[in-house]
Amino acid sequence: MKHFFSILFVGFLLFLSCKNQEARQPATEITTIEKPFDPATGYGIVIHGGAGTILKENMTPEQEVAYKEVLETSIKAGHAVLENGGTSLEAIQKSINVMEDSPLFNAGKGAVFTNEGKNELDASIMDGASLNVGSIAGVTRVKNPINLAYKVMTNSKHVMFIGAGAEKFAASQSDITLVDPSYFYTERRMNALKRAVEREKVELDHDGDNKTANLEQREDLRSKYGTVGCVALDKHGNLAAGTSTGGMTNKRFGRVGDVPIIGAGTYANNASCAVSATGWGEYFIRGVVSHDIAAMMEYKGVSIEEAAKEVIQNKLTKLGGSGGIIAIDNKGNIAMEFNSAGMYRAHMNAKGDLEIKIYKE
Ligand code: ASP
Repeated sequence: MKHFFSILFVGFLLFLSCKNQEARQPATEITTIEKPFDPATGYGIVIHGGAGTILKENMTPEQEVAYKEVLETSIKAGHAVLENGGTSLEAIQKSINVMEDSPLFNAGKGAVFTNEGKNELDASIMDGASLNVGSIAGVTRVKNPINLAYKVMTNSKHVMFIGAGAEKFAASQSDITLVDPSYFYTERRMNALKRAVEREKVELDHDGDNKTANLEQREDLRSKYGTVGCVALDKHGNLAAGTSTGGMTNKRFGRVGDVPIIGAGTYANNASCAVSATGWGEYFIRGVVSHDIAAMMEYKGVSIEEAAKEVIQNKLTKLGGSGGIIAIDNKGNIAMEFNSAGMYRAHMNAKGDLEIKIYKE
């Protein structure tokens, strides 16, 4: 009997404590728990086709349409890969290949000329899952430099090849297309080189604020940085970044810009984000721009937009550099930040919403 009352008493205490718990945990708390991020429905892709003094008044409607068409084809090519469950590394190559094959952009066909009248191409790619990278500089015969960068990452023990060595490696890879250097020639870029050489001693404001610039000079400023790049988050939750360029018009002495320098023009890390840059490369190297954005996110928990704004509008601008970046984080949030007048850019999310922009808006 004594036992029976003890059990009854303990039971009563348990009942009271449960009641108390319920009172302290309102049902609303359960309903407000956020669903964990699902990359299968939150994947996305962002591309750029270069930044610069891209002002509406310096573009004809036909030029605008032509640029937008290539940007759309490019982003849709990468997006289709993601949609079908492909990797971000695959997607960025597909998107970049479209822009490399278009004469409109300073990458692959249509790349700018060196002082010696050559096209020397740079590219890099980074896998955010493994932090592995592949990079090439100063190649003259590789049709799609981004694909060779990928081969450096996946088929070699090294991360960066330059010039003749990079081309020897390219020749050993069965699916890398080699072309005659004349393939890269475009009259537009050759004229830009001739004008650059002619006016070498005339100081033009690099930002294009020079109101006395004539039409040709404006064209040069507008297309000064036409590098192409892509960042993507795939359905598996992996980030990747890639960038491809001809560098800067009239470059000399084997000049290498930010594009093949990991952390400067390209960076990807699943812990934070993927970044691809375009602009005056020397400043992007000095500012370690792409890695800085990722580091701010990883170490300080800053949002992608805040990190991109801080690095481009504050650090890079103070340094005297111009250009911009595209970035996507491991949740699919994006940033397209630049301090130049414009940047060719596009974004597409998992729902298929497409945004293509050129000017500041
Ligand atoms: N960043 C490239 C370079 O300096 C140029 C560009 O963005 O167009 O090589």
